[in-house]
This record gives sequence, structure tokens and C-alpha cells, in this order.
Amino acid sequence: MSDKLEISNPPEYAAGLKAVKYALGNIFHVMPKGKALYVLNRLNQKDGVDCPGCAWPDPDHRSRLGEYCENGVKAIAEEAMSARVDPAFFAKYSVHDLKNKSDYWLGQQGRLTHPMIVRQGKDHYEPITWDEANKLIGEHLQELPDPNMAAFYTSGRTSNEAAFLYQLFVRMYGTNNLPDCSNMCHESSGVALTRTTGIGKGSVTLDDLYKAELILIFGQNPATNHPRMLSALEKAKSNGAKIVSINPLKEAGLVRFKNPQKLNGIIGNGTEISDLYLQLKINEDVALLKAVMIKLLKMADERPGIIDKDFITAKTDGYEKLRADLENYDLQSLIERTGLEEREIDHLVDLLANHRRIIACWGMGLTQHVNGVDNIQEVVNVLLLKGAIGKEGAGTCPVRGHSNVQGDRTVGIAERPSKALLDKIAENFGFVPPQEHGLDVVSTIEAMHSGKVKVFIGMGGNFLSAAPDTDFTAEAFAKTDLTVHISTKLNRSHLEHGKTALILPSMGRTDKYERNGKQMVLSVENSMGIVHSTKGVLEPPSKEVRSEPVIVAEIAKAALTESKVDWDHLVDDYDNIRELIEKTIGGFENYNERLKKPLGFELPNGARIGEFNTPNKKANFTVNKLSENNMLDEDFLMMTTRSHDQFNTTIYGLNDRYRGIENGRMVVFINPNDANRLGLKKGDLVSLYNNYNGVERKVDGFAVVPYNIPEKCLGTYYPESNPLVPIHLKAHSSHTPASKSVKVRITKL
Ligand code: SF4
Repeated sequence: MSDKLEISNPPEYAAGLKAVKYALGNIFHVMPKGKALYVLNRLNQKDGVDCPGCAWPDPDHRSRLGEYCENGVKAIAEEAMSARVDPAFFAKYSVHDLKNKSDYWLGQQGRLTHPMIVRQGKDHYEPITWDEANKLIGEHLQELPDPNMAAFYTSGRTSNEAAFLYQLFVRMYGTNNLPDCSNMCHESSGVALTRTTGIGKGSVTLDDLYKAELILIFGQNPATNHPRMLSALEKAKSNGAKIVSINPLKEAGLVRFKNPQKLNGIIGNGTEISDLYLQLKINEDVALLKAVMIKLLKMADERPGIIDKDFITAKTDGYEKLRADLENYDLQSLIERTGLEEREIDHLVDLLANHRRIIACWGMGLTQHVNGVDNIQEVVNVLLLKGAIGKEGAGTCPVRGHSNVQGDRTVGIAERPSKALLDKIAENFGFVPPQEHGLDVVSTIEAMHSGKVKVFIGMGGNFLSAAPDTDFTAEAFAKTDLTVHISTKLNRSHLEHGKTALILPSMGRTDKYERNGKQMVLSVENSMGIVHSTKGVLEPPSKEVRSEPVIVAEIAKAALTESKVDWDHLVDDYDNIRELIEKTIGGFENYNERLKKPLGFELPNGARIGEFNTPNKKANFTVNKLSENNMLDEDFLMMTTRSHDQFNTTIYGLNDRYRGIENGRMVVFINPNDANRLGLKKGDLVSLYNNYNGVERKVDGFAVVPYNIPEKCLGTYYPESNPLVPIHLKAHSSHTPASKSVKVRITKL
């Protein structure tokens, strides 16, 4: 075991005053107190700064005590810290030196201040002017024999305005190669929900959660990944809702929540969140849901009212096929696969039978599997049996992990754009956009690796660390001619670069940007389809950093040999960009006016009102297969997870307080019986390895943590365990990397 790593019993609740202490300690450590309190006072307030963390929506009534969570504070600390990564820093450290530093160390060095370049054959980034950088990008793009030899990535922090300009430029350039971070997270949700409900987004609002009678939470850890969701669940419970958590790991926040803004959370016991906690084996959600439906339908033979026959007849298609398919399964075998006891499943069936306003929420625990799309379709099947989509207090709730990941897709970041979007672009901008589908994240990596993509431009994010198969992805980057990252902070993607590489420093959410004496306002869409403004409040880290729409406009001017778009006019006032979004994307009527409303505005959502925009205008039941992981005796199924001191690839610290881990990230959570069987004890160091299609992948030095997790299942943190996720292991149809069902074996070091 490493000297510093400490392993203790996990707590039985999340938040409380400890969360406040940790959050404030974190932010006061990296910036002056006055500045920190000033920005926190504006965070998630009406007309304030939108949190750059997750996409959880803001309530209509905002708390005066602060409308943010511990991890929102950490996100602000990360972005607005006083430290700077300037040209002197890059003169001191070579790329080689920086590769030996941890992700945490890289993040702690501060905000990027200047455009930097590492030239072919060199090992240091050097300063470059913006004009030279844009010229270089323009030349590289123009020299490519085919526009499809470039790929343009977007991360979920990008504003609607920057994302719209970016996709417009990329399509004018001639490609739909627009991979984005949703390819790696909720793409499975988008595919499944489009097929079944006619919209690739969830159907509920916060108000629905408050009105629900039963909330199912699948494969999600809200206390770490969307902490304010716990306040919404607390309110739902006080309104009488029952909550069922379905997750392999027992997560503290799903057990009990101590709201630090309430007396009960400070000196009391807080709120018990889950009425039923099902610790399902990894990737057995379809087996569980099939068992549930078999039991529910059998019960309905006696009590027909427990499924909504009127809704099924009027609004859905495929019910008979679903029933026929369920006949093919042996109930006991399904139950056995789940690792649960039958009485636990019966409890869930009873709750479903006795409630009508039902919401299903989910996170990556459902999406990042080879059968990720099937998982979500099976959840929809259960909701449709209950008539629980398209009415108050009921529906689908995929919880998005990054603040504007949903908005970016809405305004056109899509490698598989709809014909309607392309037609509208053609009509408004006088050119024929490319019609063939572009590359998603996995196929971009494969194309870079095989030499088919030579230029990579990334708008935000940390592509290398987010992507699967780290070594393969690093090799892929190294084979490109040019990599460009538009970034606020230094990260590992800057270090595994193309022959030439650029870092273009951009403003973050907290940075205030004025042009011609007017503050530029940006906009984002949260996880529940509400579009609202975000306004920076702090001085940017240097005069050289630029706002993302301006960066895109300058690249477009340098790269496009002809363009009917007046890029300078568009970025002169971001209202001008929104006028174009309004003309091009449905649902944005009077965009500039409605953005001024304190709560923003809601985008149209057919499923929310029971109108299903599928080809047959019905909500569709689907027939889904069980997972097929083909495990041998020695195999474990590993899921990658985030620690509490982490937001996506950003590492805020080395602790995972809610799982009892301190000062380390190289750990593997394992069932104590499995550990005993392998002769492993707490803290032993092991290698994890696998062999898919003859390729061996291996990571070393993971400390064993006996943990409350089902047998034959393992948990590890990403990005540390990403090298074990084979590039080809991805979900059918959505191509989401299957990072939560990776077969591995363990050997003691
Ligand atoms: S819940 Fe998400 S959006 Fe809200 S403050 Fe926390 S990290 Fe930010």
C-alpha cells in the first residue's frame, strides 16, 4: 500500500457541515476570500454565473444562503484560482517533465494566460501570437485534401453561442466530424429516448420531481456528480415520494442527506433518501427490469388497474411484442443474474404497482455498457406500462454531467445531424452542408490512429483523459499533424499531442467579457431543457485570453477560403449570434428577449406533454436483450467511477470522502469474499489486466479496498483505469464507450 493512502469505513450520509468546511477550505486555499465570496454569491443566481460543473437545474426560488454545492465551489475554485500557467511556466517545464506530473498537480498550476505552441521536434511549449496561431490552423486545414481529415471536438462547458458558431464553421469547412463529450456519456440515452419517446432528452422538470410519488435512481451517484439533486430528492421525500436506488455500490448520498442549509441537516440526522436500495450486479439492469415486468404483468392479471391500459392503447406501440418476449424468460434465472434476493425485487414491484406518478433518473451506470441503449429502453418499457411519461410528476430523467452538454447538441453539435438541421443551415447560410455522417469520439480516435484524421481541434475538455484506451488514444494523437486545444487550464491532452500543437487560452464561465462597453452574455441549457443566461463577474486571468465565440470566429476567418458569414459582426455582439440560432433551431423564438427573463425559458419537449414525435407518433415499447459479458471464472466486471474530489476528468483533490478513501486514487473496490478468495487484504497492491481480441491491457499499483460491492464486480477511478477500456468496447447504436462493464483479472504484485 502507498505510504499516504488511508482507507476507512465510508460514512452513512453525504453533505452536512463537513461539506461546507471542505468546500470553503478548498476555495480559500486558491484565491482571496473576498473574491471567492463575491463569485459564490453570484453562482447559479438569477442573472448570475452558471456553475461550470454539472447540468443540474436551478430551482425557481434561489436560496439566499447560496445556490450551490460543495463540488460547485470546487469547480469555481478550479476555474477562478489565482495561480497562472504563463510562458515562464512552459519555459521551466518541458512536455516530458509535465507528463510525469499527476492530473491533480497539472490542475493546481493555474489558468492558462497566453497562446502557446510546441513545434515539431521540440519539447517545450513557446508563446505564439493569436494571429500566427490562427494562420497556422488555417493553413493546416486548407492543405488537407479532404475536410473529413479534420475532427472538431466540443466539451460540455461550451456555451450555446460558441457551439453554434463552431458547428457552422465546421460545416462550412465541409465536414460533420463533430465528436463531443456526450458521445462518451449520455449518447445511449439520446439514442434510446429518440427511438422510444421521440426526443433525445429527458421529459421531466424539477417541479415534476417534487410531485412524483415514486423516483427510481439507476446507476447514479448524485452526492458527487450532481449534488444539488439531493436537495430536490429531499423535497420530493417531504412531499411523500418513495425513492428506490439501484446501484452496485452503496453510495452515502443515496442513503442519507444532511442538508447544510437546514437545522435538521446541521444538528439532526438529515433525511433518509432511499426507501429501498438494490445493490444490483454490474450491468444486470435489463435482467432486473425483465423480472420486474414479468411480476408486474402477472399481478396485473389479478389487478388490471396497476398498469395503465388506456395509455398503452392510446399512446404506445409494441406492447404485445414486449409481452410475447417476456414469455421467453425464466424468472428465477433472471433473479439469479441480478444478485438480489427475490423479496427485494418484490418490494420494487409493489412500489411500482401502487404508484402512478413515477420518474426514472439515471446516470452513466446505465449508459456506458455495450447494451447501454437497451438498458434505457428497458427503463422506458417499465414507465410506459405505468403510463408514466407525459404527465405531471412522471417521466424520464437522464441526468447530464456537464453544464451545457445538452445545449451544445441542441444548437447543432452533432456528428449525425438531422436532415432538418442541415436543410435549415442551407436555407439560412447559402451553402450546402455536408450530408454524410461524421465521426463520433471513438471513430475519431480510430481515424487519427489509422492516419485518416490529421488535424484535431478541441473546444474545451480533456479529451485524452476522458477517452477510453488511453495508450491507444495517445498514439492516435501522436500520429496527427496538428492538435489544437481551446482551454482554460493545463491538462493531459496538451501533453500527448500531434506533431505540432497549439494551446489557445479561453475565458471560463466566471470571466467577465465586455465588448464596445457592453457585457457579453452567454447562454446554456440545463439537464431539463431550460435555457438561461450566464454572465461572468471576474477579471479574466490575462489580457490575452479570449472568449470562445471570438476564438471560433478567428479560426473560421483563417480557415475558410470563402464565407458568406460576417464573423466579425457576429462576435461584435452575441445577440447577433442568438438571432441566427433563432432562425436555425426550433424552439428559440425571441431568444434575446426571453433570455432576459430571470428564469430563462423552456424548450419544447413533446414527451413532456405526451406528444411522441417518433415516426409512428407513438411511444414505443421495445424488445431488449440481456447483457452478454461472457465471463469466465477468473473474470471480474469492472466499472470506472468518479471520486468525490473529481469532476469528470478534473481532479480537485486526492480524497473520496464518501467512500472512505484519503490521499490516493489508485484503488480497486472489491467484495470482501472475492478478496479473501484471491488471498488479498486491504491495501495490497495489485495489477489489473485483460485481453480483448488478443490485445493485453494492464495497469499496475492499485491498492485493494474490500468494499460493499456485489461479488465479481470491481470499482476503479477513471482516468486511472481508462487504459483497460478497449477502444472497440462500445455500446450498440450509440457507440458510448462501455467503461462500466470491462472484464478484468487481478494479480497480486
Ligand atoms: S449541483 Fe452541479 S451545477 Fe449545482 S452547484 Fe453543484 S456542481 Fe454546480
